[in-house]
Amino acid sequence: MQTHAISDHREITLARGDITKLAVDAIVNAANPRLLGGGGVDGAIHRAAGPSLRQACEQLPESSPGVRCPTGEARITPGFELVAKWVIHTVGPVYRGPESAALLASAYRSSLALANDRQLSSLAFPAISCGVYGYPLEAAATIALETCRDHGGTVALIQFALFGDDSCSAFTTVAARLFST
Ligand code: ADP
Repeated sequence: MQTHAISDHREITLARGDITKLAVDAIVNAANPRLLGGGGVDGAIHRAAGPSLRQACEQLPESSPGVRCPTGEARITPGFELVAKWVIHTVGPVYRGPESAALLASAYRSSLALANDRQLSSLAFPAISCGVYGYPLEAAATIALETCRDHGGTVALIQFALFGDDSCSAFTTVAARLFST
């Protein structure tokens, strides 16, 4: 595990692993706009949380037909059978080129803002948009880590749960560059 202090009372850690196992206040789900489950980390979180998670998501209002969470925004539900008390569902962009950066940063910022509103002190992120949504790993890692570093919130611990060798090595390389003093 890599730990980077970003201020006296805030740190970012990077570790390989399955986000569904983490004992943090909230885990972030890289969801799709319908919020009814899917593949990748979304499927893993729904399986681990149990069927109540889907029911809670169904109750979230649609902002347009089939959209419970527009790209770049976030919603919160309980974590049900997860160790984490809450799930923050966010929707990253499908990668279309450098113009996708603002929406990816917004997905991280919206998640951090919700965690702040709830006064959570620990939060875990997956590598949002880095699976089927196709975001290049180093570019995504740079946006993820810079956005978390620059978000002046109260979340004391931000953990990145990195599932594969590729995302783990991209995030650790970028973190070493961004946080070296
Ligand atoms: P997206 O649609 O946002 O690209 P994916 O779920 O396809 O979302 O992938 C996002 C990242 O989550 C990928 O790097 C994938 O390897 C990773 N991932 C998949 N399952 C897990 C898990 N259980 N814990 C943490 N990360 C996971």
